[in-house]
Parts: sequence; C-alpha cells; structure tokens
Amino acid sequence: MKIFIDGQYLDEQNAKISVFDHGLLYGDGVFEGIRAYNGRVFRLKEHIDRLYCSAKAILLPIPLTPAEMTQAVVATCRENNLRDGYIRLVVTRGIGTLGLNPNRCQRPSVIIIADTIQLYPPELYERGMAIVTVPTTRNLHSAVNPAIKSLNYLNNILAKIEANNAGVEEAIMLNAEGYVAECTGDNLFIVKGGHLLTPPLYAGALYGITRGVVMELAARAGMKVSEPNLTRYDVFNADECFLTGTGAEIIPIVKVDGRVIGTGHPGEATKQLVAQYRGLTQVSGEPIF
Ligand code: PMP
Repeated sequence: MKIFIDGQYLDEQNAKISVFDHGLLYGDGVFEGIRAYNGRVFRLKEHIDRLYCSAKAILLPIPLTPAEMTQAVVATCRENNLRDGYIRLVVTRGIGTLGLNPNRCQRPSVIIIADTIQLYPPELYERGMAIVTVPTTRNLHSAVNPAIKSLNYLNNILAKIEANNAGVEEAIMLNAEGYVAECTGDNLFIVKGGHLLTPPLYAGALYGITRGVVMELAARAGMKVSEPNLTRYDVFNADECFLTGTGAEIIPIVKVDGRVIGTGHPGEATKQLVAQYRGLTQVSGEPIF
C-alpha cells in the first residue's frame, strides 16, 4: 500500500509522522472518511467541502487548494489500484514543539490512506442491529462544535466503549439537553407513519454526507422528510430506525435500549432506501481511472 504524506507516496512501513506532530500530541487536526465504489470516489466534493469547513473552524490553513486535494485523493486511489475501498484523509496541524501553541507548527501535514474497511458484520445488515443509549453526551456547540470532524474523537470513543461494554456495536448519544443527537460514527433516522425523521444539525449531529444523500433519496421517492428534535421516546415508538454513515452505509436498527423497534425486523422503507443507495454508489462519483 502506498500512503500519501505531503505530496509523496510512501510504503506502509515508511509512512510515519513525527512524534512532535500536534495531530498526535493534541488531536489538533481534521479528517474525512470517504468511500470508493466501482472505480469512483463517492460524493468527493461534499467530503472536500466538509474538510475545508472543519479546517476553517479550527483556523487550520490547508496547504492545498480544494481542487489539488481532490486530485490528491483520486491519485492516491489510482496509485493503490483501489476500485472499492475506504479513504482516510487527514490534515494535522503539523510538526511543532511541546506546548499547545499552534503558531509553533510550521506547516500542516496532509495524509491520505486508501484501504478497506468493514464496520459491522454482514448478518447485522440482514437482521438489523441492537443499540443502546450511553451516558457520554455530544460536545456542546460552545465547546468544540460537534460539526467539526476533528482528530479529537475521544468523546465518541468513550461512547463507543460504553456501547461495547453493553454488548452492542453502536450507541445513541444524546446532547446536553437530552435530545437525540446521533451515534458515535453514524447519523440516526426513524420512520414514523411514512415520514422520515432525523435530528437537526443543531442537536449535535455531524453534517453527515450519507445523511444528506438519504434525505435526498427519500424526498425524491415522495417521502416527507423533516429534522425535528427527537427524544428516546420517539425512537422507541418509531416504525423503523436505521443509521447512516460512509463506512456503515445504511444499517437497520431493530432494538434500542431493550425496546423492539417496529416489527423487530428491517422495515420496508429502510430496505427501499438501502436499494436506492446501492444503486447510486455504483454509478456516481469522481472517476479514479
Ligand atoms: N457522525 C459521526 C460522529 C461520524 O464520525 C460520521 C462519519 N463516520 C457520521 C456521523 C456519518 O457521516 P458521513 O455520512 O459523512 O460518513
């Protein structure tokens, strides 16, 4: 595997960054997780846009233009003959000194890894997954805004550990007010009476790219789509529930905090959205070759 670091392609064993990089020392940086399907990078423009928005929010000057970054992602896939896989794009504050001050960091580092990823076992897509709500809440907007896809994912990692301790793979994270925000690495949707509902971004959800695509697909299929504040009660009493994410795609949820959701099986609306999403991933995107 060849890994892109600051314009060079390095073998896996030589792809290393300094222990003085503030990405390591302080989680100071931003990232994206992107998928390639069938020789195309899916929704690359949206991922690049989100990366630059995250970077702007933390005053991180990315040393490439968005067009150059787009080219670098595609070129890294090409270099690795990646037709189907997962791309991790990371921008760190760069090499600095011990001490927080980002002004000591000369130049942000850009890292692109083109590999594969499997988040959940395939049978969970067939049967549906059980999740729980965990005590760790999403960060406040007034702290590190949860819309920033920063390298500091400890908040979500703690929630993930709490999910694992409860014997499940994913967790619902509430915000400080107790409304449903999202999961540790996925956005959450419910279907109720034929309507598709997902928490609003101000509830603490990431501006999920898959979330946006699913809302578009549902609206195009004539479903009413809205983004109200949701409580756990709304989730327990939904007809269907599913999660979305670049890695997970669309995964049905059949149990939440011990409550069976709907029939206890993946619902029809979810299955239709899964089929439409699969169709889209196979044909659209930035060509690699
Ligand atoms: N929420 C969080 C916290 C995430 O890290 C992610 C990405 N893994 C998502 C939601 C899903 O976003 P996307 O569809 O853009 O991958």
